[in-house]
Amino acid sequence: MNFSVARTLGYYLGGIWTARGGRKRIEAKQLKNLRHLVKKARGKSPYFNELYRHLPDSKVIKLSDLPVTSKIELMADFDHWLTDRSLTLAQARQHMESMDNLGVPIGEYAVFRTSGTSGEPAVIAISASMLEFIFGLALARMSRRQFRFAKKIERSGTNVIITGGNGHFVGAGFDLLRQNLKIPLKREFQFIPAEQAIDQTIKQLNEITAMASIVTYPSMLTILTREQELGRLKIEPAAIKVAGETFAPELRKRAQKAFPSLQLDILDAYGCTECLFMAFECDCGRQHVPEDWVILEAVDENYQHVADGTLSATALLTILANEAQPFIRYELGDRLRFFPDPCPCGSPFRSFEVEGRQATVVRVGDVTLSPLAFDLEHGRAQRVQMIQTSEDVFEVRAELLTNENPDQVFEQVIRSVAEVFTKNGLSDVKVHRSDAAPQLTASGKFHEVISLPLIPARERGLVAGNYPE
Ligand SMILES: [Zn+2]
Repeated sequence: MNFSVARTLGYYLGGIWTARGGRKRIEAKQLKNLRHLVKKARGKSPYFNELYRHLPDSKVIKLSDLPVTSKIELMADFDHWLTDRSLTLAQARQHMESMDNLGVPIGEYAVFRTSGTSGEPAVIAISASMLEFIFGLALARMSRRQFRFAKKIERSGTNVIITGGNGHFVGAGFDLLRQNLKIPLKREFQFIPAEQAIDQTIKQLNEITAMASIVTYPSMLTILTREQELGRLKIEPAAIKVAGETFAPELRKRAQKAFPSLQLDILDAYGCTECLFMAFECDCGRQHVPEDWVILEAVDENYQHVADGTLSATALLTILANEAQPFIRYELGDRLRFFPDPCPCGSPFRSFEVEGRQATVVRVGDVTLSPLAFDLEHGRAQRVQMIQTSEDVFEVRAELLTNENPDQVFEQVIRSVAEVFTKNGLSDVKVHRSDAAPQLTASGKFHEVISLPLIPARERGLVAGNYPE
């Protein structure tokens, strides 16, 4: 891989120049980048050449002319999808068979996989130019305050990453890639697999003397916050960044209180393996789209745009900087709501919020319940999980703090869960104890509640989707 600092600087300076020109310059840059990408995809990707066969000339094409693409269809034709024939799906998969290859490029690409929450995982090839875009443009979109603190914090001690360690996931592999490419943005980091026992994680964290930052999933931050409140975890990170799941405002408040050492607000990095830099959070806490290089569309079930202020059924992602593996109007599955008013931070880039994901809702018959309705915290357990095994049967799993009186812990949790069902008119629901360990997703995310898989999107008129990593 041929990473270039000069081209990274190009993204940075170009990004600053575009933002200074306001909406007009941003929109012009976006359209120019889109037409360039479409031309490249048509010329070099047999998949897009066929898909765009009957569309207008690339010089005059508009976003709305382009059909929606899906992970399933693109993955099924991977070897015709990329604009570079030198990387095949078989090669990428073989490379990922060994964990020794994590973060090690294969030819011109680093390869990672998604967790496959909604079926087959996608294989993502990250080229040097994507890395230049990620580093250069992210720097251009930082607020002055973030810029000032970022370097200072990263160098103040160990940067901890707690994510899935059982596969070629970008969370665990990105810093290794940085080291392998000798990218001059090196920092000291320690990786902790999210799958290991919480006790072990707490022990490792407590042993770090100077902690600069923690990057993890909101579900892991929930556990760490609680452990810090209870005094078993004693850490003083200067910064926390969460990614990969919806970050609830209640958790933000609770965690900021539990970690008074934080020098910056907790940063919510909305992104996915397909596009690590998909949005940036401003000092007002809103997510903005770097629209010169990324297009995010909030659409309904028929892929028609919804008005600003309205919650979408799904979202479409276009990554204008990725010429090697084009993602153009790619269905993400996330539900977004664009703010109708400009952000108080003054950014010319549009801002939005992300809604909690559909898969976490519990459905029994006609009753829909939020997972927040259940109190799954217990003083003597570090992780408690409820799994829906059939329409009206649930099981409770727990990672206990001590082996003392497990029956009592299960009994109390099961009683509290059953009460919620009864209160909602579901007294026939059965809740059992399971002695199996709590289940984590392929990429190491812990969900307190796992409901039955959604029925495929198109059959229900609702969109399931693949969730960002
Ligand atoms: Zn803002």
